[in-house]
Amino acid sequence: MALHPPQGPSDLHLHSDRSDGTQPPAEVMRAAHEHGIRTAALTDHDTTAGWAEAAQATVSLGMTFLPGMEMSAKHEWRSVHVLAYLIDPDDPPLRAMIEKVRSSRRDRAHMMADRIARDYDLTWDDIVAQTGDGATVGRPHIADALVARGHVRDRSEAFHGILSPRGDYYVDLYAPDPVTAVGLINAAGGVPIIAHPAGRAGVLPRSVITAMLAAGLAGFELGHRENLEQGVRVLRRIVDDHGLIVTGSSDYHGAGKPNLPGENTTSDEMVERIIESGTGSAPVYS
Ligand code: AMP
Ligand code: ZN
Ligand code: FE
Ligand code: FE
Repeated sequence: MALHPPQGPSDLHLHSDRSDGTQPPAEVMRAAHEHGIRTAALTDHDTTAGWAEAAQATVSLGMTFLPGMEMSAKHEWRSVHVLAYLIDPDDPPLRAMIEKVRSSRRDRAHMMADRIARDYDLTWDDIVAQTGDGATVGRPHIADALVARGHVRDRSEAFHGILSPRGDYYVDLYAPDPVTAVGLINAAGGVPIIAHPAGRAGVLPRSVITAMLAAGLAGFELGHRENLEQGVRVLRRIVDDHGLIVTGSSDYHGAGKPNLPGENTTSDEMVERIIESGTGSAPVYS
């Protein structure tokens, strides 16, 4: 028997206020614990800043912590999120890339704020006030600022209106293509898994998935509330053909989204495969 047999239920996709979740990492782990989760990964967008606090909290709760990150990538116009488990957080090329993305996110938030300010009462300081110290800034923080000013009711209304990519205020962000992202994660010892790969935008073209597999893509997050059944069926065939890893997770954002820890989970077998494949950092056991 392995020294640390995986202990489920496992939720491998949770956000804290180091990106666009609404709670500090320790509170996110506490929320996961309250929902019966025993192995949890923190996967903030383009940052690993919450790992230490989350790891400490999981130990005191008797849980297992899996270090993770959700890396921004882009195929042509569409945004692609790649979950990166067990990466070396200090790997220089990976760090350089996420710093570049984070800096582009700041410039982009600034530009969107300027555009929105032409029509709505909103300042850059409003957005700063909604963003944790050193956190990866995103449209959710602009949404929170719009809520605080009373322009919209919640994040969802902001995303469907003022912050929509089809609207006048949207500015694109820089992000690497998904093949580059997978290569960087892999070179940093990590396990790359495409997050919510069958959402409304549809499944990525087969040629892109093939190139990602060649770069070291390890699997798909097939259990996610945004996935659509038809896309999941297509991806399940690829999983079977290539013996890939399949995960299921909540994508919990605290009060920022209705998603709750444990609404989708990952099997012990798959958690074990992730742990066996990752070499850049180690799980923290209690
Ligand atoms: P960004 O990467 O800055 O363009 O913002 C995208 C982020 O916003 C994603 O990580 C989602 O978690 C979040 N998001 C997208 N749609 C919504 C929504 N309708 N309500 C709340 N959060 C959302
Ligand atoms: Zn998010
Ligand atoms: Fe995502
Ligand atoms: Fe996410």
